[in-house]
Amino acid sequence: TGEGTVWLPEEAATARFGARLWRVWGGEQQCVILLEGDLGAGKTTLVRGLLREAGERGSVRSPTYTLIEPYTLGARRALHLDLYRLGDPEELEFLGLRDELGAGTLVLVEWPQRGHGALPGEDLVVNLAHAGDGRQAGVSARSMQGAAMLRELAG
Ligand code: ADP
Ligand code: MG
Repeated sequence: TGEGTVWLPEEAATARFGARLWRVWGGEQQCVILLEGDLGAGKTTLVRGLLREAGERGSVRSPTYTLIEPYTLGARRALHLDLYRLGDPEELEFLGLRDELGAGTLVLVEWPQRGHGALPGEDLVVNLAHAGDGRQAGVSARSMQGAAMLRELAG
């Protein structure tokens, strides 16, 4: 359903790309964005830019130990997951992820491979990689909603 590449020459570009992702999400359906990439690739920077755009004024740090951080953003919600320390995908069940999901919720997942099989179906996959002094983001759509978002990003 489509792929694209975005060049992110500096930290601010990663944050702005996160902000654009927020704007292309319609906000009605649930949306799941997987953030792939090594340590230091810019996943949390992207989430911070997205949540700032969404109006979050508090500090945004990766939930390294709590694994799930919920945000209330007006009528919408976001869940920021950092699964680096997840031992087993089944633990997501005990953390109550399923109860947090629903319409109007944006789910952002760092280290999604650790939660394989226990995550809701993804709409977009963003793969961040070092490229020179900057980063390159590969974006793949995995659903109709994801494809529509990708078209808006490109347009
Ligand atoms: P991750 O969550 O993937 O481990 P972070 O978002 O914590 O990575 O970012 C790691 C570092 O990369 C930060 O110091 C951040 O400033 C930097 N960074 C983010 N995006 C870029 C970019 N496009 N170009 C250069 N540095 C970046
Ligand atoms: Mg991180």
